Amino acid sequence: MKAEIISVGTELLLGEITDTNASYLAGQLPLLGIDLYWISQVGDNRVRLVEVLERAWQRSDLILTTGGLGPTEDDLTRETIAEVLGEELRIDPILEREIQERFARRGVKMAPSNIKQAAVIPSAKAIHNARGTAPGWWVEKDGHILMAMPGPPGEMHHMWHTEVLPRLHQRATGAIIFSKTLKVFGLPEGTVGELVSPLLSSANPTLGVYAKADGIHLRFTAKAKSQQQAEEMIAHGETRVRSILGESIWGTDNDTMASVAGDMLTEKGLSLVVMEYCTGGLLATTITEAPDTSAYFKGGLIPYSNEALIAYGVDAKLIYDYGVISSEVAQAMAEVARLRLGADVGVSITGVIGPDELEGKPVGTMYIGIDSSQNKKTIEGNYPGDRFRVKRWVTNVALFELRKMLLALD
Ligand code: ATP
Repeated sequence: MKAEIISVGTELLLGEITDTNASYLAGQLPLLGIDLYWISQVGDNRVRLVEVLERAWQRSDLILTTGGLGPTEDDLTRETIAEVLGEELRIDPILEREIQERFARRGVKMAPSNIKQAAVIPSAKAIHNARGTAPGWWVEKDGHILMAMPGPPGEMHHMWHTEVLPRLHQRATGAIIFSKTLKVFGLPEGTVGELVSPLLSSANPTLGVYAKADGIHLRFTAKAKSQQQAEEMIAHGETRVRSILGESIWGTDNDTMASVAGDMLTEKGLSLVVMEYCTGGLLATTITEAPDTSAYFKGGLIPYSNEALIAYGVDAKLIYDYGVISSEVAQAMAEVARLRLGADVGVSITGVIGPDELEGKPVGTMYIGIDSSQNKKTIEGNYPGDRFRVKRWVTNVALFELRKMLLALD
């Protein structure tokens, strides 16, 4: 299969953006055994876009375009594909409704020009864009495949992985690729790599180890004739990894630390509150990023001074005796938040965010408190890095420890 990539956008030709879409796709095609012969960049110009598309249609079996699917007049990819293939554009009512609903959910009025994103031609199948409004197009005609994807890299990567790659893989090899990610926290990347090293040499499924903001991700990727077969192949490896890493595995695929803790709280019918001294609301923000948070999250208190801590009800004597940066105050914060806001579980964070040390404790010193009527615990740690990294890390630790505490309630 001969492939060709066309990156559409005048910004590319003005040197304002780098064509990372083409290099990303170029890196993906070898995994499918597909040979890439040409990459072109073309501006938002109808005549030149038609010329590039016509040439690609003549010489390539697979054409991948990115960009030009937006709602404005200079977004011309759909129109020019229709022109090159001699087909009529028509508005697909289902797509139109989906785009309208998407705007309605965001509470934004849809501009009339957005309707053009619901246009298709008879040989195109619209491809769902989970990250944006512009659907992609999968076109099949006369032995050629043309896939039109959106320009923004986040939208394009997601569409590629979820929609295009599985389809192309089946075409290219008669097999499908299926992945499953296990998410690990609390162990360094090197340790995780060593522990799972016996599985790293497996050719199918492969196992990759990746360091991410929320810990280490272990991604199994299997090639098989069907998804069921791929899932079975991965299940075997997953059982082995779970027996090695145990409770350090906190989630899979799309799970977040907050969604996992949230699901457990919902299941157990427990409510949660937080008090954060140094993370400025990041813990509450992270918790509320999970869906249906209101089922269990009652709210939080964000003191940023000793006066505010005392005003919220933390004993001034504790602060005087142990300092704000202490496990005693962390425990008291979690309990005060729980009792004051009337919840089942309270989680607190106090620590030194920098730039200077505090109470003789170095930057990065953090205490987490977790309090319920049955359980009380504090966790102490020192997390290196800049302010944001420290805040994110301690937030992850708090959610991970909350999950551990909830597991212990079983
Ligand atoms: P939109 O609906 O956002 O207009 P689109 O499919 O029309 O999407 P473009 O308008 O062409 O896409 O590009 C939108 C943005 O996506 C660009 O401003 C740029 O930031 C990014 N982008 C587009 N093409 C590329 C590319 N080839 N490589 C990297 N980034 C790109």
